[in-house]
Amino acid sequence: MKCWICQINEANSEEHKFKASDIRRQFGKSFDAVYYDGEKLYPFNSPKDKLIKFPKIICIDCNNNKTRNADDAYTIFFENIDKINNMIEQTGHINYNEIFPSNWKSSKIDIHRYFAKHAGCKIMTSNFVDQVDISQLRLFILGKENVPNFYVRIFFNEITKEFTEQLKINPRDKYRSNIAFGSTIYVGESNDIGFAGSIINGSLRIEWYYGNQNHFNRSIDFSTESDFVEKVNIEDYYPKAFTDFINEDFFSYLNFGKYHLNEELLKNHYRTMFRSLTV
Ligand SMILES: [Zn+2]
Repeated sequence: MKCWICQINEANSEEHKFKASDIRRQFGKSFDAVYYDGEKLYPFNSPKDKLIKFPKIICIDCNNNKTRNADDAYTIFFENIDKINNMIEQTGHINYNEIFPSNWKSSKIDIHRYFAKHAGCKIMTSNFVDQVDISQLRLFILGKENVPNFYVRIFFNEITKEFTEQLKINPRDKYRSNIAFGSTIYVGESNDIGFAGSIINGSLRIEWYYGNQNHFNRSIDFSTESDFVEKVNIEDYYPKAFTDFINEDFFSYLNFGKYHLNEELLKNHYRTMFRSLTV
């Protein structure tokens, strides 16, 4: 199989679903962590574990060289998560200049290229791979400065922020983190083929949308230094109220892994948003 990004080299590299930098920052070098796949808990103790990687769908050159700036921007962004949380709580905005003071413009594009790489890997390992035209996404990752059919929304969730703070001080080392992904959801209708998914990292929920042949009516604005972030207190997506969660629920629903959400609600939410992007 060829790498979906360059479409030249053999796919011989495993992109991390969960970035090694996140894992090292939260757990250090040697640790005992848990991955949840939506049904079962799996222990893992290395950032190189296959559990937390995609299968080989990209090449070493794309993974290590061509997307290095994207990976670095993501790492710096989440190294600054406490600052970002404060900014959002105080101003309702993320100011990219405060996170990347020397190069916020290129870094803002780069972190979105990271989200694009992640979304592309999700799409290319989904059940809908035969229906995908990934060309715009790969050109964006390889250096194009805009992408007409990829859209990202960032939300701040006070509940998952507090929960993540709790995990950091929890004496049970293996639950020190809250990073999760939802399923790749097919949101297409007739000729409008589309995909959506999301990443949760601590307080932030990053939703992405990709439309095969659509030029969305909104595009990610890379010219703004500071962006409004919608605050949510979402418990709706979880199977019961957080107040009714016992410890094991927290650990299994909100740790490394796939979050187990109210899929129907999620699908409706994604479809509504996708329609608003394409109409
Ligand atoms: Zn490649």
